[in-house]
This record gives sequence, C-alpha cells and structure tokens, in this order.
Amino acid sequence: MEGRILKTSSLILTVTIAVSAVVLGRYSNLHIKEIKREQMSKMQMYAYYDKEEEPEDIDFSQQLRVELPRGVILDEIKVENNYLEQLITLQIPDAGKDYFEEHPLLGKSNHINNLNLDNGRIEMTMDSVYEVKCNIKKNYLYLDFLKPQEVYDKVVVIDAGHGGRAPGAIKQGIMEKDINLAIVMELKELLDKNDQNIGVYYTRTEDVNPSLDQRAQLGEKVGANLFISVHNNSTDDGEMAVYNGTEVMYDEQKSEEGFSSKRLAQICLEETTAATGSKDNGLTRGNSIYIIRNSKVPVALIEVGFLTNWEELYKLTSQSYQKQTAQGIYNAILRALKEGF
Ligand SMILES: [Zn+2]
Repeated sequence: MEGRILKTSSLILTVTIAVSAVVLGRYSNLHIKEIKREQMSKMQMYAYYDKEEEPEDIDFSQQLRVELPRGVILDEIKVENNYLEQLITLQIPDAGKDYFEEHPLLGKSNHINNLNLDNGRIEMTMDSVYEVKCNIKKNYLYLDFLKPQEVYDKVVVIDAGHGGRAPGAIKQGIMEKDINLAIVMELKELLDKNDQNIGVYYTRTEDVNPSLDQRAQLGEKVGANLFISVHNNSTDDGEMAVYNGTEVMYDEQKSEEGFSSKRLAQICLEETTAATGSKDNGLTRGNSIYIIRNSKVPVALIEVGFLTNWEELYKLTSQSYQKQTAQGIYNAILRALKEGF
C-alpha cells in the first residue's frame, strides 16, 4: 500500500495523488450497517460491523473508508484543505445526490468535529490542522489524517501582513498589504522548488484578511518550527521622510537562550539585509504586536522597508527587489532550520 501525502504549498489546493492498488481481503460476510447522519456529526464516527469479521486492512480506530463509484481513480478526486478554517473537502465524481445514503462512509476519526455529506461532497471540519492522506484499494478510498509534524521534517508558517480590507500603510496609492503579499508569493516560489521535506503553511496567498487570532494560532496548530511575518514600515506621522532600512521584531518574553524569537529575528535581519543591501536598523522588541505576543512558536516580524521613503517605496514596488527580499527570507529560513529550529 502506498499513497502520497498532500503537499501543503497553498492555503487551498487541489491535488492529484498517485494511485495504488492492493488486493483486498474479501468483505463477503460483513454485516455493515449504515451510519446515521446524526451520528456522523458527532466527534467520532463508528463503523458497525461484526467484530468477528473485522476487516484487517482498515484501521477503524482512526481511518475513514469511502466507497467510490465504479471506475473513479484518485486523480479525479478533488481535495481542498483550508488550513485556517480547518476544513477539508473532497469531491467524489459521479456520486449523485443520495450516493452516501447507499454507500455510507465507514470508520472513525477523533479529529473530525463535524462532517457533511452532500452530492458527492465530503466536508470535514477538523479539530486542528491536518494533512489528509488518500489511498485507493480496489474501489475504496481510505483517508488518514496526519499532523503536519508527522508528514514533514520541519514546518514553517509564513504570514503576509494585513490583506483584504486591512491595507496596512498606504503611500502614494501603494498599499502595504500588496507589497507584503508580493514578497510572500516570491518566497513561495522558492519554497515550492525546495526539495527538503519542509511543510510550509501560509496565512494567506491572496488578498484576504485572516484574523490576528487565526494567524497567530496557525503556528501552534501546525506545530511550526518557526513563524515569519512579512510587513513594511512607515514613519509614525506617515509623512515621507529620510528613514529607510530593515528592522525585525521579536518576542522578548520568549527570547532566552537557544532557538528563541530573538535569534530567529537576528537571522532574518542578517539574511534579508544581505540579499537586498538594505540598511540594517537592528532588532526591535515587538511585544505590543498581537501576533508576536500570542505566538506559541519562535516568531520574527520583518519590516522590510519604509513606504515613507521615496527611494525605498520605489524599490519595494519592483519585482526584482521583491525577489531579492524573498531570497533573503528564504536563506534565513534554511539557515534557521539548519541551526536546529
Ligand atoms: Zn504592517
């Protein structure tokens, strides 16, 4: 039996997975009863079957089994994983309105808070962030739910500051949220190409505004080794000024020895300024910042540059500078992980 684990390179993604076929034992004498809808919405979903006849190849303690319509292969099953909402959705093709009435899901998972079945769509609200591992054997799809740490050697959260109706600083019609996201998307390109087994979770990959709680909690939910937030600066009065350069904020409460927020911030500062040639403005205590204060994992918030400086504003809007910045942050991530974060 083999399958592939869904890659976590974006917030919501559609995935194709390798198909595996293994000969199943026969189920001929099983007396499996249907699971009632109301039972499915409970914390656990139990399969009812003859204990005597328990099929050996289903881990009923923590696995779901979905019967597939004839001929459906794994490639045709659309899987979306919305990490911030902890919502995993599978769309089974050729499964009509009453499909799941006739072909009930079997198994159970302690990690599912709520389950909705509709028109070939399986919608699961999880109790935290999980990766879903899909395997097909014969015409059954088996689902396992794994913690990111069980799937990846290292786990990283990247946060593009602001978004949606929260633009951050605005200068000359340029919004901080857009520059933050542009840098993060460049960074994503680099991380997507990385062949180490690093799981990367983004608080956003589009122009939306997750709550500060959602952002801060994502690090803990995925068991991140580090959390990096990308922002840009402006002067206090918002006037154009000579101030320019990069500073990185850290959490002084969690800055003892070793793999601290402060150490991570230092690495981010060094690597970002080295890649961009930007002025090094040093580290700043960031405990007044919500996501820093509430992060349970080592956190660094990079203020890449000042929108209130003409030259820097011009640079920050250019793709080449955004790429350089992303390269710096990328280098920082690899260096920090190598150090042992
Ligand atoms: Zn900001």
